[in-house]
Amino acid sequence: EAHSINLLPLLKKQWGTDRLQYLQQIGNIAQQLGTPVYLVGGAVRDLFLERYAPDLDVAVEGDVRSLVEACKAQIPGTDYQYHARFGTATLQDSRGFSLDLAQCRVEHYPAPAALPEVRPGNIGEDLIRRDFTINAMALSLDPENFASLLDPYGGRIDLQRGQLRTLHSRSFLDDPTRILRGLRFATRFQMNLAPESRQQLQEALRDDIFARLSAARLWREICYLLELVALPQALSLLSEWHLWFLLRPAPMDILAMQALLGRGQEQIQWLQQQFPEVSIAVSTLMLILLWQDLSWTDIQRPLDQWPIPDRNRLEADLRILPDLPRRIAQAIRPSQRANIWQACSLAGILAAMAMYPDDRALKDSARLYLQEQKSLQPIFNGQELQALGLSAGPSLGNILKRLRDAQLDRDIADKETAQQWLIKQGILPTNPR
Ligand code: ATP
Repeated sequence: EAHSINLLPLLKKQWGTDRLQYLQQIGNIAQQLGTPVYLVGGAVRDLFLERYAPDLDVAVEGDVRSLVEACKAQIPGTDYQYHARFGTATLQDSRGFSLDLAQCRVEHYPAPAALPEVRPGNIGEDLIRRDFTINAMALSLDPENFASLLDPYGGRIDLQRGQLRTLHSRSFLDDPTRILRGLRFATRFQMNLAPESRQQLQEALRDDIFARLSAARLWREICYLLELVALPQALSLLSEWHLWFLLRPAPMDILAMQALLGRGQEQIQWLQQQFPEVSIAVSTLMLILLWQDLSWTDIQRPLDQWPIPDRNRLEADLRILPDLPRRIAQAIRPSQRANIWQACSLAGILAAMAMYPDDRALKDSARLYLQEQKSLQPIFNGQELQALGLSAGPSLGNILKRLRDAQLDRDIADKETAQQWLIKQGILPTNPR
């Protein structure tokens, strides 16, 4: 029965002919080598979901290197990178298609949450090592039965029923990152954990399984989560699955937090529209919002344990944010406000706009600051100041900064007013040389 369904019509409908032909070519070459190959993982799942899969994964029952070499020799414009350490390869062709290939493998977990030991295996073994039944389907690329479905664990039915089901009872203990992967799939595809998988999740949590996972692996999964467009929805599931402690060391008002994170995402969208060239650390922004109301004792642990990039900036932002509305409101001159924003990271600035949505003045001032960061042209540069008789050195930097402040405060507008201002400040002598 597993072989009875053929997905060729579905492939044609969803992919068009080019991508399909590419896979057929690879299947033909693999057949010549006597190496069975299969399309696996997310791409097969996405066919049933009618979503275009950006990445194609191919499982090879045999030697990956010989296969990619043969593909390069036979398909014009094709090239590959072979990663000897993992026995995997990436194929690229001139039309821009790319494909990841890996040899079918058996995995053995020597200890809970440890990295697996692997050895070559067949497609059945390769499918059962996977995370969920919906990701454990394969399509044969063999020309004799091209696009026939291999679905030994009932992934298609689980997909129809909206159930995320692990492949065996130790799955979450072997690899707890699967729990957070599951949460992402459940969020993205609006699925639920199958009852027995839910039980396995509870057992894994009772075993405190995340404590065994390396901080680096946990952090990577946390980042994927924080970067989800559907992060606000994921938060409900995190709470339902009793996993909120992973993102935040103290309980929270879920509804209020969802609204806050949603506003953070709106700020990101706004930024991308206004300043398409600027990139922002989404995960940092979301962490700031998740932690903004916590005490230092609460967040010390995750701060110490996770390899957060630019941790010092994050800490600085968290210190500045609570008092920001008051300081902005009290600042008299535009340059004072700019200098307050200057102490925040970009993530911190967007966080402030999300945290204080009703503070008009704060929002306007943040937007003005970002605009000026981009467009304000200095009236004098260092060289020009030296030409005016000022000597190079650290004090020159200070003078440039004061000029910028004066410009922000509209005390100066052009070279002439700036020069007068420099004289008035006693920086330049009264009688220019
Ligand atoms: P998407 O790319 O849309 O998020 P995907 O399923 O392609 O989904 P990948 O992370 O690219 O996600 O993984 C590819 C496949 O590898 C998965 O479909 C799954 O079968 C398998 N896989 C990935 N990570 C694990 C894991 N931790 N444990 C078991 N199998 C995994």
